[in-house]
Amino acid sequence: MGRPSLLLVEDDPVLVGLLRRLLAGEGYDVTAASDGADALDRMATSAYSVVVLDRGLPDGDGLAVLRRLRTRGSDTPVLVLTALGAVEDRVAGLDAGAEDYLVKPFAVDELLARLRALLRRADGARGGDAAAHRLGMGRGWLDLATGEAVRPDGTRIGLSRTERDLLETLARRPGRVFGREELRDRVFAAADTLGAVDTYVYYLRRKLGHAVIRTVRGLGYRAGEIS
Ligand code: CA
Repeated sequence: MGRPSLLLVEDDPVLVGLLRRLLAGEGYDVTAASDGADALDRMATSAYSVVVLDRGLPDGDGLAVLRRLRTRGSDTPVLVLTALGAVEDRVAGLDAGAEDYLVKPFAVDELLARLRALLRRADGARGGDAAAHRLGMGRGWLDLATGEAVRPDGTRIGLSRTERDLLETLARRPGRVFGREELRDRVFAAADTLGAVDTYVYYLRRKLGHAVIRTVRGLGYRAGEIS
């Protein structure tokens, strides 16, 4: 992997200056955007390895930017920075499609550690070379070449197109919680209800065991394991 490219969306020039120096020193190729419109423009034309997104932007809440990105289908990992630390704000951030969340003021080392973790995870989800078509889920995996789920003992279980898409979306981001609305928007037709998401979660659990998809109360679902 070359230098990871990072889009820093932040309107505080002092913080931008500080983070830019620091991140460049850590090997990141840093681009800064000072508001949401600028960030969306840049992300429409360039691919970034990771985005650091402030919530308090001059043209609105950073979470609106994040929702737009996810609606466009962008999978770029996003770490949200915010001065708001209440539980509801955390939930809103994860709901909008953030991978991680850091409350200001934060320790710079913590930011760096979390960015490294996000990049490792994104890299892992793309898969190594030989195992590029395997998405691990516990000791079992999803075989992207055939669209089958594979148990640790090698048993293969066929999945419908929708089951496979739903499971793949979750398994590509282990640890990330997906809200039902986001899953509906990503996997199903716009006209489908949120109940369609629950129905397919039920189908997958019936085929692959209850632990294949975890329910995160009040938030949504995340990948579990195939056993
Ligand atoms: Ca701000």
